[in-house]
Amino acid sequence: MDNYSGESVRKNLEQIRLNIAEACEISGRSADSLRIMAVTKTVPAETVNCIFGMGLDLIGENRVQEYLSKKDAYISDIGGGKAPEVHFIGHLQTNKVKYIIDHMTMIQSVDSVKLAQEINRLAAAHNKTMDVLCEVNIGGEASKSGVSPDDITTLLEQLAGMESIRVKGLMTIPPPSGSDIFLGRMEELFNKIKARNIEGIAMDELSMGMTHDYAEAVKHGSTIVRIGTGLFGARNYF
Ligand SMILES: *Cc1c(COP(=O)(O)O)cnc(C)c1O
Repeated sequence: MDNYSGESVRKNLEQIRLNIAEACEISGRSADSLRIMAVTKTVPAETVNCIFGMGLDLIGENRVQEYLSKKDAYISDIGGGKAPEVHFIGHLQTNKVKYIIDHMTMIQSVDSVKLAQEINRLAAAHNKTMDVLCEVNIGGEASKSGVSPDDITTLLEQLAGMESIRVKGLMTIPPPSGSDIFLGRMEELFNKIKARNIEGIAMDELSMGMTHDYAEAVKHGSTIVRIGTGLFGARNYF
């Protein structure tokens, strides 16, 4: 392991935990009501591995190809024979589900019935039930995937009957500017859908908050903050 990056990641994580603790205190939440996900895109597996010794157990993967090239280099036992938990968080093409179905514990980026049907079909074929989140395009940005807030209930109802999928909540990437407003809207949408109690749909997880807005996201009820740059440093795109 690269000592320098291990040391800087440790320092970054300490600061992130302090900031989260503060946001939790302000909003009257307990720190164990949310999880920190380490987002690994462009980060070498050896650097990612150092977080498993720091009390983190959850990583987020954006790209199928990159994940497949790195997965064998990730530590497989983070203590007690437990493997790290891996969630898929990037845009997922239907024809690529087959490559990741066995390796993910959750797919957070479900944004169409077609994608859900393929996850459902392959999960059944592999004798598993896949936890998923539905991705909401809360800012209505043309460049982002995710369903619009107006269409989310319809999508959830379509997924509710799929036997090998378990919907656990919602995920979003708000627009980079003015994210506080959009985090607030997302919180409202989440609570509204939760109150509706759609049969077969759980609203336990609200995945939002990245390096620039995780403290705000915590104040708006996030249960999973997804942090890349703030943990590992600026990305070197290759
Ligand atoms: C890259 C990425 C993140 C992390 O972004 P940072 O700003 O580096 O913390 C979180 N979620 C998704 C879906 C991403 O693609």
